[in-house]
Amino acid sequence: MNEVELLKIKEKALEEHIPIIMDDTLEVIDNILKELKPKRILEIGTAVGYSAICFTKFLAEDGIIDTIEREHERVIEAKENIKKAEVEDKIHIFEGDAVEILPTFQDKYDVVFIDAAKGKYPFFLSQALRMLEKNGIILADNILYKGYVMSDYNKHKQRTAVTNLRKYIKETTENPLLETKILEVGDGLAISKLK
Ligand code: SAH
Ligand code: MG
Repeated sequence: MNEVELLKIKEKALEEHIPIIMDDTLEVIDNILKELKPKRILEIGTAVGYSAICFTKFLAEDGIIDTIEREHERVIEAKENIKKAEVEDKIHIFEGDAVEILPTFQDKYDVVFIDAAKGKYPFFLSQALRMLEKNGIILADNILYKGYVMSDYNKHKQRTAVTNLRKYIKETTENPLLETKILEVGDGLAISKLK
């Protein structure tokens, strides 16, 4: 992996206001991945490939990341970035709507990273649970969404997103098969381990 290229990719994404993972969130995930050394990671929401490229550092040998992105322009840029970072053999991009693509997947994953349409988090959770390996972990970024999720303010435009993020938190914390923590890093990170 080419660290200089990685920094350039990050800076360009920030300049273009692409919502890449925040540094403190990434640090928490890095520590989890370091310990887990996953063989297979599934990412929902590639954007320009920044988080996926970062995660490749912690893959087991021959490990693979499958990542889904629906915006064509971003897929093109992600592919260029992945090439620049020299990790083409570790990341497979699937172009299209994750809501349609996920049900066609049959593989098992050690880690599922949810980082796409907030209104779809409960659906992504059900798909993640279907594909999670034993001892697997589901991570969900932006789970506190600028603080809206934990506040009682209900009238903003983002109501569907907030409702579904709350539903995600309820479903993960009440699921007896999962051990879930909600961290206030970045925009909020949910970590759910399969017991
Ligand atoms: N994981 C990236 C950031 C992802 S931003 C990183 O940290 O570097 C969220 C991305 O999810 C956006 O690029 C958006 O186009 C994509 N997205 C949102 N909803 C989606 C869906 N239903 N299917 C596929 N991609 C989706
Ligand atoms: Mg995010």
